[in-house]
Amino acid sequence: MQLRDLSDHVEYRAGRGIEEVARELGREPSEFVKLSSNENPHGPSPKAASAIREAAAEVHRYPKAVHADLTAAVADRWDLSDEQVWLANGGDGALDYLARATLDPGDTVLVPSPGFTYYGMSARFHHGDVAEYDVTENDGFALTADSVLDAYDGERVVYLTSPHNPSGGRFSLDDVERVADETGPDALVVVDEAYGEFADAPSAVSLLDERDDVAVLRTFSKAYGLAGVRLGYAVVPPAWADAYARVQTPFAASAVACTAGLAAMKDDDHVEKSVGSVEWSREYIHDELDAETYESHGNFVLADVGDATEVTDEAKCEGVLVRDCSSFGLPEHVRITCGTREETERAVAVLNEVLAR
Ligand SMILES: *Cc1c(COP(=O)(O)O)cnc(C)c1O
Repeated sequence: MQLRDLSDHVEYRAGRGIEEVARELGREPSEFVKLSSNENPHGPSPKAASAIREAAAEVHRYPKAVHADLTAAVADRWDLSDEQVWLANGGDGALDYLARATLDPGDTVLVPSPGFTYYGMSARFHHGDVAEYDVTENDGFALTADSVLDAYDGERVVYLTSPHNPSGGRFSLDDVERVADETGPDALVVVDEAYGEFADAPSAVSLLDERDDVAVLRTFSKAYGLAGVRLGYAVVPPAWADAYARVQTPFAASAVACTAGLAAMKDDDHVEKSVGSVEWSREYIHDELDAETYESHGNFVLADVGDATEVTDEAKCEGVLVRDCSSFGLPEHVRITCGTREETERAVAVLNEVLAR
């Protein structure tokens, strides 16, 4: 028996965990700070954590009601109908549903380079091909409609990451609209707002009032601190009302995830604290790091350090884990997740020491 040809498929490489690195170096996990995966350094909302404990007693049931409750809460938050909210196993799961609902075999999608690997992976899973538009360092990784439209060649789905990972830049809503206007009538523009809470800018969700060619991705993994439960969603045009039932994996988000998400949405204080902390940390890294940085609207900062792999390895030995962006095609850059005050200060001190060597 042969698998299908997977030679075009690439592996998703997540940042390594503290335990893994500590074991490798023969050290204690408590000696490390992990600023490599854009997680929330303040943990989950305490309300979400206690909701998860309570949910434990009910996990022998399939999550029907709680899935509906969370869908309704998200719809209410954005002033949409319930049918427009596609809950999923992480934002990544929502990307799969969008690919499943849009791609015919051989259709091509247009993704940013450097950019989030999963767009292309998901398209390939769904028998699609991948083309890229460049987000270049020459112009400070600026995200404009022109850079997308220059590369556009009739692709079926166009992905805009705003704020962008790993650069931290964002598209203006005017540029998002221009891309939607100037791509084909059959093209869907997916606006990935995984970091939307950290940007002081309006969401592309507002465009769905008037358009049927834009979908928006959101996640509970970043500002809400729930990366481990895997919960995200896509917001889609009203006209797609019955498609979700046709493409979703049964019970797309778990009972634990839905319960946690509902509780987290009621804890504005935790989100505000998380966003406030990121604003401070971003500023601190921009001001204090002895390397060129780029303006960021996410919970991380991209820095040009010369040799990313060397700097990442040396910082690791000093107990600070940052993301080597070589795998994004940026061998000179590291991405530093915004930590707590203490973590951010320590990371900057260690990186400055490494950079001075
Ligand atoms: C983190 C992230 C996501 C979603 O991650 P999930 O944990 O699957 O919700 C989506 N897009 C980008 C650009 C991200 O960085």
